[in-house]
Amino acid sequence: MKAAVLTGKQSLQIRDVPVPAIGDHEVLVKVESAFVCGTDVRFYSNGKTGVDEEHPIILGHEFAGTIYRMGPDFTGYSEGTPVAVAPNYGCGICDLCISGHSEMCRDSEALGVTQNGGFAQYVRIPEAAVRQGNLSVMPEGMTFAEAALTEPFSCVYNAYEKIGIYPGDTVLVIGSGPIGIMHCLMALSAGASRVFISDISEQRMDLAVSIDSRIEKLSAGDDQLDTLTELTKGKLADLVITAASIAKIQEQAFALAGINARVMFFGGLPSGKSQVQLDTNEIHYKQLTVAGTTRQSLRQYRRCLDIISSRRVDLRPLITSKSPVEGIGKAIEQVQSSRGLKQQITW
Ligand SMILES: [Zn+2]
Ligand SMILES: [Zn+2]
Repeated sequence: MKAAVLTGKQSLQIRDVPVPAIGDHEVLVKVESAFVCGTDVRFYSNGKTGVDEEHPIILGHEFAGTIYRMGPDFTGYSEGTPVAVAPNYGCGICDLCISGHSEMCRDSEALGVTQNGGFAQYVRIPEAAVRQGNLSVMPEGMTFAEAALTEPFSCVYNAYEKIGIYPGDTVLVIGSGPIGIMHCLMALSAGASRVFISDISEQRMDLAVSIDSRIEKLSAGDDQLDTLTELTKGKLADLVITAASIAKIQEQAFALAGINARVMFFGGLPSGKSQVQLDTNEIHYKQLTVAGTTRQSLRQYRRCLDIISSRRVDLRPLITSKSPVEGIGKAIEQVQSSRGLKQQITW
């Protein structure tokens, strides 16, 4: 089968590799659709600990496909069933796994991160992942592309559940990449009255507005706070979400939040660069609630299948390019240079 194999820093090769063998309780998924994520690009640009020519890995954690083959001892699905694949799974027996947070398990694994993933024609789904419910039968009417986008969207949904969005809220999302736009669509779906997007690139913000014209642009710059003050008649944002891995936007987030507002640090910072200067008096005197989230639980993942398939949130306009796996280098370049939004890999 064809696969995009990472063998080290800036070394991603399209190779012919054997179709994975599966164990008695495992499932082989034939990939129909996968997407390139910033995380894949980071692994490509910086390399990945433990990965070299002798220990290659197939990247890709945003994917969906059909059940191609099942181990003889497994009967939970039928061959040919379309499935969305959640990448994170845990040991299955620790307190975190039992509480429904296998994604936070200390021994957690992830397809496309620690195990071979979806930039291949076929993916072996290990028994632990099959048993924990990482495969979800796709709701009717949903495309494979939408199923594959359930992974990043469910990270966004995790943030929504943690911090809340209420009818009438004014929400400010900083960072107009695919994740930022997903936060905007989630906020609109949850009943926010006004949703602002902020970015240094006017063109990126235009892209957000072209996807949903209810999104309002708030240019990043020295007068950003003044502009938001004016636009909201001094109330500022009820919720500020940082959706870019930049320390400076975390520093600015508190100032843009109103009284009793919430702040969500969604985008993590590069390791070694996460010491940030924050004005904690803003938290105190404005009674701010500050939170962060990462990944998604399987419960949240499945809930998002319903949200996406009902088109309460329509992710299809976020797909800006589509190419076979041979074009993955170009797709990575597009992510690196912030061109387009989601780059689809098909077969
Ligand atoms: Zn991702
Ligand atoms: Zn566990």
